[in-house]
Amino acid sequence: MPSANDKGTRARRVLVKLSGEALMADAGHGIDPTTVQRFARDIAQVRESGVEVAVVVGGGNIFRGMAAAVEGLDRTTADSMGMLATVMNGLALAGALSAQGCEAAVLSAIPMDTVCEPYARRRAVTYLGQGKVVIFVAGTGNPFFTTDTAAVLRAVESDCDTVYKATQVDGIYSADPKTHSDATRYDMLTYDEVLARDLKVMDGAAVAIARDNKLPVVVFSLAGEGAIARAVSGEGRSTTVSA
Ligand code: UDP
Repeated sequence: MPSANDKGTRARRVLVKLSGEALMADAGHGIDPTTVQRFARDIAQVRESGVEVAVVVGGGNIFRGMAAAVEGLDRTTADSMGMLATVMNGLALAGALSAQGCEAAVLSAIPMDTVCEPYARRRAVTYLGQGKVVIFVAGTGNPFFTTDTAAVLRAVESDCDTVYKATQVDGIYSADPKTHSDATRYDMLTYDEVLARDLKVMDGAAVAIARDNKLPVVVFSLAGEGAIARAVSGEGRSTTVSA
């Protein structure tokens, strides 16, 4: 089934945001190879449907700057470590994609030429046009930001139709549905509603960049094989944040 963006047309290019925690499965930390392979299969399926795919991966399964800063580490150093954690996740995902015959490129906001290519917008757009999956790592390259902001920023820069943000639940709720059984799930929200109600789905900077650039954000659950492909096809439950 073709996916639909806010204009009701078929998605041409999308950005998928995976948190680092999604890669750790039940292990509680680190990178679970079986889980990474599953996401790679799923992303390859989206590519095979003809949709160009960019990915931003987080690093929370390995290191979070804010948490380390609370324990006394200088925040900018801690955030650099967090950004480096995302590089490891991105390399793992690229490796799994390549193993399945799906070409992938890792572009890092922190240059490290012997490990992967440095981020450049033009390079990203060229690779996407060639059908490669482009994995953006090292966040925005700046401390005090999150990989959600990196996802929205890279999606705008590389002209993606929509950001698909994977979570553990099937959309945005009025409160955490794991602890509030009476929480309401939303099908649609405006950017301003997300900001005004302080719904904890993305940080405010990410929502504001999406709003200012009219970039729809679809929040969906990663549960089950094929979850990413289903979300991009417009199947299953999700919450769309748009104007
Ligand atoms: N980070 C950063 N700048 C960015 C993106 C990320 O400093 O532009 C650091 C920050 O320390 C963050 C860590 O990288 O805690 C991992 O990113 P994030 O917490 O967004 O990962 P996720 O929650 O998606 O796993």
